[in-house]
Amino acid sequence: MYIIKKTADLQDFLSKTDGTTGFVPTMGALHEGHLSLLRQSMEQEKTTVCSIFVNPTQFNDPSDYEKYPVTLETDIEQLALAGVDVLFLPVITEMYPGGIIQSGRFDLGYLDTVLDGAFRPGHFNGVCTVVQRLLEAVRPNRIYMGEKDFQQCLVVRRLLNLVQSPVELITCPTLREANGLAMSSRNTRLSAPGRQQASAIFRCLAMIRENMQDNPFPSIQTKCKDELAKLNIDTEYLLLADALTLELLPEFDLSRKMVVLIACMTEGVRLIDNLRLND
Ligand code: AMP
Repeated sequence: MYIIKKTADLQDFLSKTDGTTGFVPTMGALHEGHLSLLRQSMEQEKTTVCSIFVNPTQFNDPSDYEKYPVTLETDIEQLALAGVDVLFLPVITEMYPGGIIQSGRFDLGYLDTVLDGAFRPGHFNGVCTVVQRLLEAVRPNRIYMGEKDFQQCLVVRRLLNLVQSPVELITCPTLREANGLAMSSRNTRLSAPGRQQASAIFRCLAMIRENMQDNPFPSIQTKCKDELAKLNIDTEYLLLADALTLELLPEFDLSRKMVVLIACMTEGVRLIDNLRLND
């Protein structure tokens, strides 16, 4: 595996490869969820580039940025073992030569006003800033992203439209721990009991899916929040939305594709998850 730190060197390397390039942007502290995206890219593309870059402009909470887990050595081992072709590992000034600021405002419309858009002001503009710069550096045919970050996938799809990018977005399913907890780099910040208790998040989502034919959404929503609160998991939001547009739905509507999305805090760690209710 090649480890490349400079955009110019990356572009030089890629100009000598033939065939397609797949790109998997990450913030490191890699787990099986990240590796599943990389494997999908490696199956489909001639060359697969993974980036590790903890992007400062997408953290609305400075302490979340400071505490973001960094495990570079084991990340490199995992990537090499998986057979990834290139790790792009830029330093901050490579991505932000003009200082750590977002590049203008991306007009994300409604997507920037709901769910994480509402609860993490500026977050998605920071995501768009770095994704646009990374895409300019890597120039892939396809970018692979996880549905674990459901809203982020819609935001990046909109970004690709806004900047008229030819890059195709491939969205990949969420990988979970054996107990159902969605894999996340932030899980490493939980205590062992906290990690076990956080499996209740997925149980709630699954319970909503199982009960949607017979119960109104608001009553299941309240029950879930209460159950989570008993485990010291504070729900920021637990909402039902149209899976194509993220329009919030007050009630189940089986004529639409629906997704239920949650953000919550436990042991000072913010966790998100989601589940499609009808495929
Ligand atoms: P991150 O390092 O958290 O920025 O994530 C990098 C990419 O991995 C994003 O596209 C995420 O959606 C994806 N990802 C994170 N966790 C998972 C998971 N449990 N399953 C599948 N993909 C994931």
